[in-house]
Amino acid sequence: MATATIEFVEVGPRDGLQNEREVVSTADKIELITRSIAAGARRIEVTSFVNPNRVPQMADAEAVCAALPVRPDVTFIGLVMNGRGADRAIETGRINQLGAVAVATDKFAIANQGQTSDESVEAAKAIIAKARAAGLTGQATIGASFGCPFEGEVSEARVVEMAQRLAEAGPVEVALADTIGVADPAHVTRLVTAVRAAIDPLPVRVHFHNTRGTGLANVWAAVAAGARVVDAALGGLGGCPFAPGAAGNVSSEDVVYMLERAHIATGMDLDQLIAGSAWLSDIIGRKLPGMVAQAPRFPQASAAKDV
Ligand code: ZN
Repeated sequence: MATATIEFVEVGPRDGLQNEREVVSTADKIELITRSIAAGARRIEVTSFVNPNRVPQMADAEAVCAALPVRPDVTFIGLVMNGRGADRAIETGRINQLGAVAVATDKFAIANQGQTSDESVEAAKAIIAKARAAGLTGQATIGASFGCPFEGEVSEARVVEMAQRLAEAGPVEVALADTIGVADPAHVTRLVTAVRAAIDPLPVRVHFHNTRGTGLANVWAAVAAGARVVDAALGGLGGCPFAPGAAGNVSSEDVVYMLERAHIATGMDLDQLIAGSAWLSDIIGRKLPGMVAQAPRFPQASAAKDV
């Protein structure tokens, strides 16, 4: 195992909620963020600054930012797609880091953000530069790194080349996102290894969806290959409104259970995540896909004390 510690990023308030049709109240979003911090999260994707007509769930981005808890030890990430979004995020005064997305294929880039893949790389670099000029940090995510809903297979060499170009802008990391949940662990091992080598010493972050049940296996493969940052969403909530068939993110409690059981420190408290998942299920009004929250606690608290 290349590392015994990973950095955990909670993406539930943004990626988890953005595909929900029923708009979740700003107060409940803040409760989700507050619970994530209490459970140990120190980096949280709190919202996105996008056109509210396209993503109505994120229309309250400014209100969420205004209500964020004052926690200098927590990095609040705002996802932005263009300069206008970057300006909005910076103007809140509460976002610490801008998240920029470049998409690996032209058809998905056009569907997701109205530009070609190459244009999305240049836009992401401009967003990172804007963040840095404003005294914030920036990070870059490569969407559809493992497969595209429109074009199918994605060239590994293309993703590596994009990561190199994005790294030139000075992000804190480059993230590989399996936006539609098609990755397999062997692909993850190859791509994380190649991108690590290409952007060293910048860390690789990974973002998996469990659309086809390979999410946890992919997290494991990524961490084993040296990915240092792992995304997950409480309860396994999530999807992408512009990627047909995209289902939930890997669940925070399932990822934390797996890694902590394997003695890889996440900084997260599993009991608080399980309690949070039950709370979130009530808010959303349905059972969430995460599995650990539905299973008996193991090891039991009393048994653990006997060891
Ligand atoms: Zn996602």
